Amino acid sequence: MGFEIEHIGIIGAGQMGNGIAHVAAQSGYSVTMVDVKQEALDKAIATITKNMDRQISKNAMTEADKAAALGNIKTATSTAELAQCDLVVEAATENEAIKKKIFAEVDALLKPEAILASNTSSISITRLAAVTKRPEKFIGLHFMNPVPMMALVEIIKGLATTQETYERVLEVSVKMGKTAATSEDVPGFIVNRLLLPMLNEAAYALQDGVADVKSIDTAMKLGAGHPMGPLTLADFIGLDTCVAIMRVLHNELGDSKYRPCPLLVKFVDAGWLGKKTGKGFYDYADPTKPKPYR
Ligand code: NAD
Repeated sequence: MGFEIEHIGIIGAGQMGNGIAHVAAQSGYSVTMVDVKQEALDKAIATITKNMDRQISKNAMTEADKAAALGNIKTATSTAELAQCDLVVEAATENEAIKKKIFAEVDALLKPEAILASNTSSISITRLAAVTKRPEKFIGLHFMNPVPMMALVEIIKGLATTQETYERVLEVSVKMGKTAATSEDVPGFIVNRLLLPMLNEAAYALQDGVADVKSIDTAMKLGAGHPMGPLTLADFIGLDTCVAIMRVLHNELGDSKYRPCPLLVKFVDAGWLGKKTGKGFYDYADPTKPKPYR
């Protein structure tokens, strides 16, 4: 069926871009990773190297695999370097104007059969596809963080995405060792649509005095078999990100059940964004013993 996908372009070398580059290179693809900032590219290569060293220490990779994978990655500060790619996965900052500009630019330089994908968490795939001349070859490819560890990828079909495009991207996902779940192009897709309201509800339970931080987390860990409690998980994701996703669900689906919890918003207003700022539902001053805020 058509041409082989061999060369993957990745736009954005942040948390997600470096993870996608890692698994793509490890799976044998030739990768070109682009970022506007050289420092982001340097940091991404350092992160990938460190994460591969961790895989080696767990016997999940050999030194030779690491050398081969790193040898598969090229970096560049200009999207012009992506012209030869068969698939380009955009993982730049979550900003619609930035993404639209990137896609219009890259669409113009790729060969006609190449596929464009976005790793966006909340922006409509159909809307992003509409700025290109290849909406039928445009798709959502939503990896989970951290990409090398998480088994899932959500594949999102835009209104115009063809079955062939879907199948090509599914093949790439499988080759990268991921299991795909297919979602329609709706706010939050599957994981965030179900997960974030649960985290938001945990904040409501705390606000309403149902239980304290530790009890809420323990209840869901031991009572529902979750690997970490919802308030801990919210701290890991970042409380600002949690509020941003709830606002997207609330605004775009228009249902009051998605309103962000006022206590969660208050934490964000205070700059208590979770683990990344050292304080959220827990205080991480001693990272080995997070202390519940109340
Ligand atoms: P990040 O801030 O870590 O990285 C974004 C990178 O994009 C930065 O290095 C920035 O310099 C670069 N960038 C900005 N404009 C650019 C441009 N015009 N061209 C090239 N590079 C550009 O962000 P992230 O957490 O890696 O998120 C990236 C995307 O992945 C977002 O769309 C986000 O919604 C999505 N996502 C994030 C997560 C997560 O848990 N962080 C999970 C799934 C999906």
